[in-house]
Amino acid sequence: MRILITGASGQLGLELSSVLKGELIKTFNTREVQGGYRLDLENFSQLEDFIIKKRPDVIINTASMTDVDKCDVERERAYKINAEAVKHIVRASRVIEAYLIHISTDYVFDGQKGLYKEEDLPNPVNYYGLTKLLGETYALTYDDSLVIRTSGVFRHKGFPLYVYKTLREGKEVNAFKGYYSPISARKLAETVAELIGFRKTGIIHIAGERISRFELAIKIKEMFNLPSEVREVDEVKGWIAKRPFDSSLDISKSKKLLSTDFYSIEENLKYM
Ligand code: NDP
Repeated sequence: MRILITGASGQLGLELSSVLKGELIKTFNTREVQGGYRLDLENFSQLEDFIIKKRPDVIINTASMTDVDKCDVERERAYKINAEAVKHIVRASRVIEAYLIHISTDYVFDGQKGLYKEEDLPNPVNYYGLTKLLGETYALTYDDSLVIRTSGVFRHKGFPLYVYKTLREGKEVNAFKGYYSPISARKLAETVAELIGFRKTGIIHIAGERISRFELAIKIKEMFNLPSEVREVDEVKGWIAKRPFDSSLDISKSKKLLSTDFYSIEENLKYM
């Protein structure tokens, strides 16, 4: 099976590259990966040509502008990468009849309710969430596509790593009191590998168990026996974009479907 991974230089892309079996076609933008192709998602004609020429059986679109604050500032770019590019990926997928897996986010929700189900109504509170919602809408215009919504992806970067490094340096951590469903990129990649076999379509939530950043930071502090303090805060200094307060995802559908433990905090923290 030929599998195209966009964003192969990102957290999820790197993990997919080591977990997936088959002939992998890896693409990156600014950070080169070995054996990969440079493909800028903002160059739509090149994007469509590349997909049609390579004729993958499966396309996993992990590439995205993921910096939530940057998306609020560089709106045009965020729109092109997170939304418009997906329209072109869909166009090319149709031509070659590829199965498309598109990665989306818990930030499509406003965070007032928490434990969101797949069928709950999205209502993004920032530009990142809005562009990602448009991206999933484009993906879902194609019958043979699966949108995976996930949350707080970490491993090569992300909140748990920041907490660990900061506490180890003897500095205090300010942790947001809001909730989400963090997952290690490794665990997420393993679920994607399993999901390919099912060829499911529609939307599925794949994420970790609901936890607040503060509770998670305390867990990491205790787990590694780190002496510095964790403080619970209402907002984090330097944030530009608004954050949903509780964007945690209901994962009962994916838990039923998949055989691996991708959700428990302890299991995920093994792959930090
Ligand atoms: P990363 O930020 O680690 O990586 C982003 C990837 O997108 C990189 O490979 C980057 O390439 C690529 N990319 C960015 N702009 C372009 C462009 N113009 N053309 C081509 N490629 C581009 O992302 P993650 O692996 O953490 O996230 C994977 C997916 O999960 C994304 O769709 C994201 O929206 C979603 N998600 C992530 C969350 C998180 O906390 N990180 C939470 C919820 C959902 P390069 O580095 O080479 O420039």
